[in-house]
Amino acid sequence: METTLRGVGVSHGVAIGEVRHMGTAVLEPPAKQIPADAAPREQERARKAVEAVAADLMARGQLAGGEAQAVLEAQAMIAQDPELMSDVDRRITVGSSSERAVYDAFAAYRELLAGAGEYMAGRVADLDDVRNRIVARLLGVPMPGVPDSDEPYVLIARDLAPADTALLDPALVLGFITEEGGPTSHSAILARALGVPAIVALPGAGELPEGSVVAVDGSTGEVFVNPDADRRAELAKQAEERKAALAAATGPGATSDGHKVPLLANVGGPADVPAAVEAGAEGVGLFRTEFLFLDDSKSAPTEAAQVEAYRKVLEAFPEGRVVVRVLDAGADKPLEFLTPADEPNPALGVRGLRSLLKHPDVLRTQLTALSKAVAGLPVYLEVMAPMVADRIDAKDFADACREAGLNAKFGAMVEIPAAALRARSILQEVEFLSLGTNDLAQYTFAADREVGAVSRLQDPWQPALLDLVAMSADAAKAEGKSCGVCGEAASDPVLACVLTGLGITSLSMGAAAIPYVRATLAKHTLAQCERAAAAARAADSAEEARRAAQAVLSGE
Ligand code: PEP
Ligand code: MG
Repeated sequence: METTLRGVGVSHGVAIGEVRHMGTAVLEPPAKQIPADAAPREQERARKAVEAVAADLMARGQLAGGEAQAVLEAQAMIAQDPELMSDVDRRITVGSSSERAVYDAFAAYRELLAGAGEYMAGRVADLDDVRNRIVARLLGVPMPGVPDSDEPYVLIARDLAPADTALLDPALVLGFITEEGGPTSHSAILARALGVPAIVALPGAGELPEGSVVAVDGSTGEVFVNPDADRRAELAKQAEERKAALAAATGPGATSDGHKVPLLANVGGPADVPAAVEAGAEGVGLFRTEFLFLDDSKSAPTEAAQVEAYRKVLEAFPEGRVVVRVLDAGADKPLEFLTPADEPNPALGVRGLRSLLKHPDVLRTQLTALSKAVAGLPVYLEVMAPMVADRIDAKDFADACREAGLNAKFGAMVEIPAAALRARSILQEVEFLSLGTNDLAQYTFAADREVGAVSRLQDPWQPALLDLVAMSADAAKAEGKSCGVCGEAASDPVLACVLTGLGITSLSMGAAAIPYVRATLAKHTLAQCERAAAAARAADSAEEARRAAQAVLSGE
């Protein structure tokens, strides 16, 4: 019999296939004592296993490229953390086998992370993944991870580690579902980059029987278990219609009555550019430059290395617009040389622009590199700061840009509710706003974006979030300036229409979402978008807002 489950859709499309579960067996090696003279050999084995796993993660990163590469390289660094390694050595010296020493050292580190606050929850999955890989290698058993299968399947996991998400083969993995993870977690962002339908935060996903058939609708977040013939036919028809609509819609983003809304891409570096160009992005609306810094958290890349990376992205969009965000370190993207290690709550601490203002040399190098990279190129460069709280922040950033002689527009991201509430004041200092709805939702609802349990509050359809978007767009209009959205909200085609109706002037998203947003926007007039926006804002919940907007847009 058909049953329906509901999670949070994070990557569009429909997939029907058999369930395969991720190999998640926790390998707990026996606690046996080794003789003292075996210690050096065991230490050597541990070191070799760590090096092999780190090399494997780096190789996977190179294969995957883009944001995935930075995440995997960060994992390789966890594996080689000198403190972890010396703990492993110490445990072997007092009689542990190498596999048990690795297991226990990671467990101790895990406890440390768990005690460091809720926000670390996302990193714990990465840590467990690295541990499992090292222990599996030492025990000589197959690596945990993506199942071995020659037939395409729907992958189910508790949470997907970036190492696995990055290597999912779209030819074999029809779609994926996770029990944990929020809509703005790293896994979700990487899934969108991959372009397979995906659903996160689906309670009970782990209990779906291996081999059972499910239909996944990544747009609505619905999973139909044992879909009947009618359901399959209906989903297949919808998928065909979507495909036809996608193929029909080309060119710049606009409503059916010609109101232009440039569709831009979110990129993490030059590796993401080909997909953006292929999807017809009109430029880049968010270049997450911190991914260039995550390679080596101990120091910033040199000015020359930065110039090279920026230039590659800027060159790809002649006559287009490229919005570069200066380094957004801290919280879930800590950098050793910038981020204080002892903050009680890093998401509320010195992150984003705050950390750059404390390290003006890092900001200056980045702005100088941008200035050199853009020289002679026919691109419209815009530079923005993450986590701007008020006019003082905005002024400090604009001053730094002017001092660096940067020939670009300067902007502020609206990620903190205070910035939306006082958007007009911030616009006295900068020329544009860009809404980071992922963090804006996190701070508006006091809901950590890495924690699946609070994903209801991370839903970008929340009317309170829409109110803050409307305030920012109104302020920009009153000041004659632009206000885009570059958070994940822009990648939901129906919500993109609502954002347009609220007065948002550009939408930036992972490249895979662009054709969907373009096609949906092209089916509706600006007046319809405005009515949908008003209906969504009049709702009392995210679900009600979504339904109300959908009803207006489908003419019900
Ligand atoms: C956001 O917060 O919405 C955003 C675009 O920035 P990031 O996801 O990189 O924090
Ligand atoms: Mg952000």
